[in-house]
Amino acid sequence: MTRKERSKKVEISWIRRRLLAWYGKNKRDLPWRRSRDAYRVWISEIMLQQTRVAAVIPYYERFLERFPGVSALASAPEQDLLATWAGLGYYSRARNLQRAARKIEEQGNFPREYSALRGLPGVGDYTAAAIASIAFDLPHAVLDGNVLRVLSRLTGERGNVASVRVRNRLREVAEQLLHPKRTGEFNQALMELGALVCLPKQPQCRKCPVARHCLALEQGVQNELPVKSTRPGFSRLEKELLVIERAGKILIWQRSRENGRLAGFWELPEPDQLEGAKLGSRIGQFRHTIVNTTFLCHVFRASLFVVPKGFRWLARSRIHEVPLSTTAKKALQCIVD
Ligand code: SF4
Repeated sequence: MTRKERSKKVEISWIRRRLLAWYGKNKRDLPWRRSRDAYRVWISEIMLQQTRVAAVIPYYERFLERFPGVSALASAPEQDLLATWAGLGYYSRARNLQRAARKIEEQGNFPREYSALRGLPGVGDYTAAAIASIAFDLPHAVLDGNVLRVLSRLTGERGNVASVRVRNRLREVAEQLLHPKRTGEFNQALMELGALVCLPKQPQCRKCPVARHCLALEQGVQNELPVKSTRPGFSRLEKELLVIERAGKILIWQRSRENGRLAGFWELPEPDQLEGAKLGSRIGQFRHTIVNTTFLCHVFRASLFVVPKGFRWLARSRIHEVPLSTTAKKALQCIVD
């Protein structure tokens, strides 16, 4: 195992320990947290879709009194079901609960696997992962709005969280972080951190148990993340450009001939291209719009020991001799000697 892999492992186990300890002390006492019974977990997760916790509590208790298990729910007259649900809204959730309860009755057992849970009416990826982990401690990471926010800040993710690519990246992070045994508790801890500390507008970083490893906090951008696309068909993305200078020369790379509109233009490197690049101070930022996408570009000083193939050093005094992309030009204007 390389030193980098070892330190990643230490960091992950530190985050797990700190988060679980914080959750043990700070979690809210919510009625659905008093039991790990799959039926109860399922009902609470469905009720919590698009509904605030405080609003759900009285409904949850009343619902369980009236329908204490799968059989009672499966055999309830629809009018009864809808009357018990009345006020919570989104009635399709109640109808799906009953359809699912009938399916479970037919199968004879409450499903214990992710794929079977996912096959129940009204159960999507998030809900299946929540039930599988909370009720059965199966290794499925949840990815709801709270988790997306916490993880995008922890990892300093500047891409649009509404995009599939960024979600997949954050899903991978969630899976790596997931505690291998206490999966349900860990998922809930991450969601609780988002609900109580890593708030959308004013994250309470001073109270945060994992602040030591939060990249957004380190870079002072916790209020700017996560990035979300605001207009339909229009995206806002962020990226980092690196100014790496050595003996009066700047490190640049050239786009290949197949690169469409920007073919042959020279660019500044981005962190993903340079493994081992060490980020220094942020020297500026600017916006740049291409068709339907506005990029918020952050410009960092950086250093690097080994330069990979495909890059070239060019004297700053000769930089105007090559065709530079507009973003590279704007980024180089951030240099103040
Ligand atoms: Fe969120 Fe702040 Fe904690 Fe980072 S340090 S995870 S921004 S609360």
